[in-house]
Amino acid sequence: MAEFSKFEILKEVEILLRSRDVANLLVNCIKKLCEKISEDVRIMSFCGTHEWSVTNYGLRSLLPKKIEIIAGPGCPVCVTPSYYIEELIKLSMDGVQIYTYGDVFRLPAVKLVRGAKSLEDAKALGGEVRVVTGLVDAIELAKNCKDSIFVGIGFETVAPGYAHAILKDLIPKNLKILSLLKLTPPAMYFTVEKIDKDEKPLSGIIAPGHVSTIVGAKAWKKVAEDFRIPIVVAGFEPVDILMAIAKILQQIISGEAKVELEYTRAVSYDGDLRAQKLLSSIFEAKEDAWRGIGFIPGSGLRINEGYRRYDAFEYFNIEELRKSEWNYDLNAGCRCSDIVLGRAKPTDCKLFMRVCNPENPYGPCMVSVEGTCSIWARFGAKEFTDDILEELKLR
Ligand code: SF4
Repeated sequence: MAEFSKFEILKEVEILLRSRDVANLLVNCIKKLCEKISEDVRIMSFCGTHEWSVTNYGLRSLLPKKIEIIAGPGCPVCVTPSYYIEELIKLSMDGVQIYTYGDVFRLPAVKLVRGAKSLEDAKALGGEVRVVTGLVDAIELAKNCKDSIFVGIGFETVAPGYAHAILKDLIPKNLKILSLLKLTPPAMYFTVEKIDKDEKPLSGIIAPGHVSTIVGAKAWKKVAEDFRIPIVVAGFEPVDILMAIAKILQQIISGEAKVELEYTRAVSYDGDLRAQKLLSSIFEAKEDAWRGIGFIPGSGLRINEGYRRYDAFEYFNIEELRKSEWNYDLNAGCRCSDIVLGRAKPTDCKLFMRVCNPENPYGPCMVSVEGTCSIWARFGAKEFTDDILEELKLR
């Protein structure tokens, strides 16, 4: 048998995962499974990258009509409260150097703060804001600089990197981290629990693959068991997602509701135990606000007591957003609240591509590459193109 290098095997796997033939086989299998199910099937792809794959590869157009794929709240930028952006705008204008990711830079706030509605505006008005690709960049730039903040936004996938830098004391004394990190398992539980009785029920969930590399497939067990919902942890190639859909259908047919692992090449049942230990040694989980959703118990990571010297909340006296002051957090007319909870599609928003587009984002879901509105705007979803064809009277 010919010897293959690791690289060659990976290349072969990649070709297989994007193979039209394999995808067609799975689509046929999905169609056959669907014939055995009488009710409509509503599947939430929790993660923004899954929504990207579903839309970018046009997977919705391949599926039987009775299968609806809806997006979930898995975009950390979309769910970061406006309040923290407003606080950062103030600090940047008071001369504190802010280091932030490019999508957070453009994230629109609700309130106008000293003439600015985003960190991008603040920079244009003289605020000290700089876009970085990550904490490593910020650490380099902050050396020998003034008081600075790195805006730490993300889910469990980026958190171990921040924890490692703190544990190894790699961060200059003048640089503090504003940890706005969020945990996804409590958010998934909350999202499913929040589904009203008069809403269409959820038939299955495609659980986030990246996050699961850290938390493991076990993290979704409680949701599957408590709400009797089939859950499949999937990778991000078209074949991964089609396979996950087929597995969910199989569970529906056999009356099961368990967590299955499709993304075995990257995820284990227990996850990365070292990373989990690292996170619990540096951070503490707290109730946290999700933009457009509300306060979710145990869903935010803040730097714990032992490492407060790295904490921007502590050093700059930044107050946490209070429940009494939180009010959906969205600009008038923006339906991001419904979109991140899977209750509406971007095309249900009257502002989509009229007032709000990737060049001029009006709401938070239009900013990040993982935001559902941004994905639909950039890659066109079936419903979106249908709308345009109808407007142009071409169908
Ligand atoms: S299109 Fe814009 S305004 Fe409408 S829901 Fe999406 S982000 Fe909000």
